[in-house]
Amino acid sequence: MRVGIVGLGIGGTCLAAALGRAGHQVTVFEQSGAPGPVGAGLLLQPSGQAVLAGLGLLDQVAANAWPIRSFHANKGPGRPLVTLRYDRQDPAASALGVSRGVLFMALYDAARAAGADVVTGTRIVDIRGDLRTPVVVAADGRTFGPFDVVAIASGAQSDLRNRVDPLAHFRQSPWAALWTLVETDAECAGTLHQEARGTTILCGVLPVGPHRVAFFAHELATRFHAHWNRGKDTRDLRFVNENDRKLSYSRLSLVAGVGLVLASALSILGVSAPEEMR
Ligand SMILES: Cc1cc2nc3c(=O)[nH]c(=O)nc-3n(C[C@H](O)[C@H](O)[C@H](O)COP(=O)(O)OP(=O)(O)OC[C@H]3O[C@@H](n4cnc5c(N)ncnc54)[C@H](O)[C@@H]3O)c2cc1C
Repeated sequence: MRVGIVGLGIGGTCLAAALGRAGHQVTVFEQSGAPGPVGAGLLLQPSGQAVLAGLGLLDQVAANAWPIRSFHANKGPGRPLVTLRYDRQDPAASALGVSRGVLFMALYDAARAAGADVVTGTRIVDIRGDLRTPVVVAADGRTFGPFDVVAIASGAQSDLRNRVDPLAHFRQSPWAALWTLVETDAECAGTLHQEARGTTILCGVLPVGPHRVAFFAHELATRFHAHWNRGKDTRDLRFVNENDRKLSYSRLSLVAGVGLVLASALSILGVSAPEEMR
């Protein structure tokens, strides 16, 4: 079969690897010009591990990940909210803390090795034709196909699903998270530790390999400050650009997002963030 896949994320790469190995002719379309992982780390549950095992990739990913045997969350200092143990029923069971880069590259390499073609820098805006011969349409007007089937794997933010099926229902989450990877000298525990305040603030530390954790707050502040400093010398990097209103709005949204995350992280530590610097 000729299969088109829209989106080169976790779902798209995984599907491309599986279908390519099964002998299908696969083409993946990705809007980004330089595809790669987005985000820092994730907790790979036993169900996701089973899919990787089916693709023969579990050992490779596990060798660069960290076994997580328990999940612990507090709702305040010394106030446990939930403790889950993966190994309660099966002593060998664990989730895997894995960096998104490790997972993405394993799946991407497998997809390419299985013969999948990857068309980057191509945002798909529509799927036309009848159900038996769908054609995908890119934002610049180019068309690709026909295919025997097209799979939409363009993530939660994509509006392509609604374009194809106006009755498809999904709700855009108003929440965001900024994560980073940090090298640490400390021994990593086999626990995902999270701190929650109500249902709106959450931060956590997820071990994703020996001496590596996915974390946000301090590292984010450091990087943001370094970027702010670069704007002193390079005008184009400033958050407000008088000649480009749209870009300025986008950058100011990012500033607001960073402020929200830092204020949330500080509040968890019992520190209130200053509103302004003088
Ligand atoms: C902060 C955070 C933490 C998370 N933690 C975990 C976790 O611990 N464990 C876990 O299992 N899951 C976690 N998730 C969820 C997990 O990241 C998603 O379920 C997963 O990434 C979805 O994969 P996907 O392939 O469907 O979409 P994505 O990974 O979002 O990939 C979609 C791809 O499609 C591309 N694309 C979008 N629109 C188009 C278009 N029109 N044309 C062409 N390309 C397009 C995008 O550029 C992207 O590359 C987390 C998510 C977030 C936000």
